Amino acid sequence: MAGAARGQGRIPAPRRLHGRLFRSFQHHGGRIGQKRFRPQLSQKYKELSCKDPLTGLLNRRAFLSLAIDALGHTVEKNTPVSVIMADVDHFKKINDTYGHACGDTVLQAVAAKITSFLRSMDICCRYGGEEFLLLLPGSALQNGVMVAERLRQAVEQMSIVADNATITVTASFGVRELPPRNDSQCLMELLQAGIRDADQHLYRAKETGRNRVVWSLQPPDRP
Ligand code: GH3
Ligand code: MG
Ligand code: MG
Repeated sequence: MAGAARGQGRIPAPRRLHGRLFRSFQHHGGRIGQKRFRPQLSQKYKELSCKDPLTGLLNRRAFLSLAIDALGHTVEKNTPVSVIMADVDHFKKINDTYGHACGDTVLQAVAAKITSFLRSMDICCRYGGEEFLLLLPGSALQNGVMVAERLRQAVEQMSIVADNATITVTASFGVRELPPRNDSQCLMELLQAGIRDADQHLYRAKETGRNRVVWSLQPPDRP
């Protein structure tokens, strides 16, 4: 099944970015340099503010902003949405064995692999060091699990060449379909709860041997 990814094209980054994120940069761009440089500066600041410099993925802040927008649409249309949390296994060992620069190359390769699986409406960020977070609007749990499993296989099959070494890695995944929003819950609370649950499943995936996908429709048991 590996390689039978949804969405064949590589999506370099979410195509639309949230206006609120950019206002301050337009503001600063307007204050720095000569008038003719302002649009370029503004664009540069936009990039810096939204992207993780190593992988080119969105950073966490930009992800949350875009995810809230996407969630608004899914709640309105009553469509499902799944969250996937991924973490490279034993990444510290990669750094220790091959060096930090090779570790960086591995992170870039994994990020590119994840990106190649995204549809245009999917949102993905580098959540932390070797952790990646995906939001799949319109995807019920079954589909989210299928995507995570395909990703798991694809990462496992990668041969990453860095500094004359060929490195292989695996990753673990936690998947959670967001429950329907209750009336008292704001979208950010719903999203944060989904991320927490996906992270809890990821923790279980690590505990039970790594290189696997753990999911549930119900909230996971809290430790
Ligand atoms: P586990 O399978 O339990 O996830 O183990 P792990 O070794 O992947 O996790 P751990 O949290 O012990 O180590 C993560 C390492 O990732 C430690 C940190 O130095 C490294 N790291 C974080 N950010 C970067 C980065 O940008 N580049 C590189 N090369 N390493 C990074
Ligand atoms: Mg890890
Ligand atoms: Mg980690």
